[in-house]
Amino acid sequence: MAPKHHPTPLSGSDRKALGKELGKARAMTAILGSQSAEARAKGEALIKQADKLLCESWNEKMWADGGPVDPSPTIDQAVNGGYSWLEIECSRCKTKRDVDLAALRHPPTTSVHDLASRLRCSKCAKAGRRPGATLLQLTGRPRQAPPET
Ligand SMILES: [Zn+2]
Repeated sequence: MAPKHHPTPLSGSDRKALGKELGKARAMTAILGSQSAEARAKGEALIKQADKLLCESWNEKMWADGGPVDPSPTIDQAVNGGYSWLEIECSRCKTKRDVDLAALRHPPTTSVHDLASRLRCSKCAKAGRRPGATLLQLTGRPRQAPPET
């Protein structure tokens, strides 16, 4: 980009004033830029906090009443809030499983409760059944470390 041309004023004092204004504008560029970055960081921290609280609220509801599962946080809200694992239980054989939400191929805007019908129990699938999953809670880490791959 070519440097911006400011027509040089005729009088010496005007030239001095222009120089001062240019200096001020350049200083403001940096100041406003860092204020913007600061405000954005604060905003992101608040959103993270909001996402965390949303997950905790859903967990309390699931623990107390087992539902309704809808509304629930979206996958990206859960991951952003530090709750990137979903504990589920097969509605038929009751096998528990921890699902890594960050590793799912579903769009991140998918609500967690929409996963209930999509997460299949592999044990029951072998027996030719396709029961849905019962959603238990969102957690920060799996109950057991995931098997090494
Ligand atoms: Zn099962």
